[in-house]
Amino acid sequence: MIKVAKFGGSSVADASQFRKVRDIVLSDPSRRLVVVSAAGKRDSKDHKITDLLYLCHAHLTYGVSCDEIFDKIRARFIEIRDDLNLTFRIEDELDALHARLNKEMSIDELVSRGEYLTSRLMAEFLGYTFLDARDCIFMDFDGKFQPEKITQAIKEAVSKYQGIVIPGFYGSLPSGKIKVMSRGGSDITGSLVAAACNADLYENWTDVSGILMADPRIVDNPRAISEITFAELRELAYMGASVLHEDSVAPVKEVGIPLNIRNTNDPSHPGTMIVDSASSVEPDQDKFITGIAGKRNFIILTVTKRLNNSNEALRDVLEILDRHKVQAEHISMGIDQFALVLSQASIGDGLYEIIGDIRTKCSPEDVEVQDGIALIAAVGRKMIFRPGISGKVFNALGKEGINIRTIAQGSDELAIIVGVDNSQFENTVRVLYHSFAG
Ligand code: ASP
Repeated sequence: MIKVAKFGGSSVADASQFRKVRDIVLSDPSRRLVVVSAAGKRDSKDHKITDLLYLCHAHLTYGVSCDEIFDKIRARFIEIRDDLNLTFRIEDELDALHARLNKEMSIDELVSRGEYLTSRLMAEFLGYTFLDARDCIFMDFDGKFQPEKITQAIKEAVSKYQGIVIPGFYGSLPSGKIKVMSRGGSDITGSLVAAACNADLYENWTDVSGILMADPRIVDNPRAISEITFAELRELAYMGASVLHEDSVAPVKEVGIPLNIRNTNDPSHPGTMIVDSASSVEPDQDKFITGIAGKRNFIILTVTKRLNNSNEALRDVLEILDRHKVQAEHISMGIDQFALVLSQASIGDGLYEIIGDIRTKCSPEDVEVQDGIALIAAVGRKMIFRPGISGKVFNALGKEGINIRTIAQGSDELAIIVGVDNSQFENTVRVLYHSFAG
């Protein structure tokens, strides 16, 4: 059995976190591949090493000395090394890097050093072999991953070494130059590595005990989801639940490797298991919601026009939205009108121009806008093929005096999305959670 364990920045923020990682990794010999982020924040006022490196680069770009920031980075790494009694000569690495700091230094190479140095320390601490991401996470010229080359390199390393540490967040271009991924990209590295070695499990160790059923800023102590399907996770993530890097799911999902979100600070908690198809059947018939997520600030744009059994007006409106780079979130059709739910952020200042274009192109009888709408998605695989679910949801919201302005449910029945006034956003999440989730 092989497990890939990825540890996020807070899990490697200082020596005591490194010790927790070692306990976790060495307690299970199948945790043979470890992917590491750069040391993150030790407390809410602290800085992530990656942020400091980006800041160094910004200083260099404007010709301002970054020595003060670089010294902070240096001190963090030396402190971890010394606290753990490691022998890695990190000063040599830092000095060599410092000597090359100038305007021409590639930003990708500079910021990748957070993961690189954290992994060097972790490799020594675990007694594992360090494998540079430069030599195993390959990308083509436009940054797309090259799974075959990655698989070859990872498989070769697995056949040679019992334990391997790989830095997350970066890889190399065909030229050999370093390229970083988008922020939070170590999640992707972990997933690529798990797929490459056909791991039995991809563990993503972070500082929460799995994915919570609802936003803890809205619901007090929401429960963690024990099992969720990839499809449910996608619905929740789309509606704003921030869990994993959005590109990190595909590599493991494609080859059917389950993903387990775990808490480095509470390793006995089983966390959340993300699977292709869920096995467990919840005995409680009323708790059919797996998770709730939502966002504020949408508008409903209603176009009234005699449609004469034709899609023409809708097509014209969608074309206009396309031109303005606005995506329709939901569409509902009536006999002589249709309504589109659009995000205010994507419209920006363009609303009056869009309405003007619709008036010119479609000659509607009316175009009406309702703003300040929040969308909340109740996501749950247990809702599928069960009659009466939406009735229960509307009933619960109605009892609390929450007026539903718009409703959407996909034919896969995986999510019921309700639109309410922005002012009712938090209340709606709480009612859904307490009635059907927690
Ligand atoms: N260190 C990088 C960041 O802060 C990548 C990661 O942590 O996954 O975004």
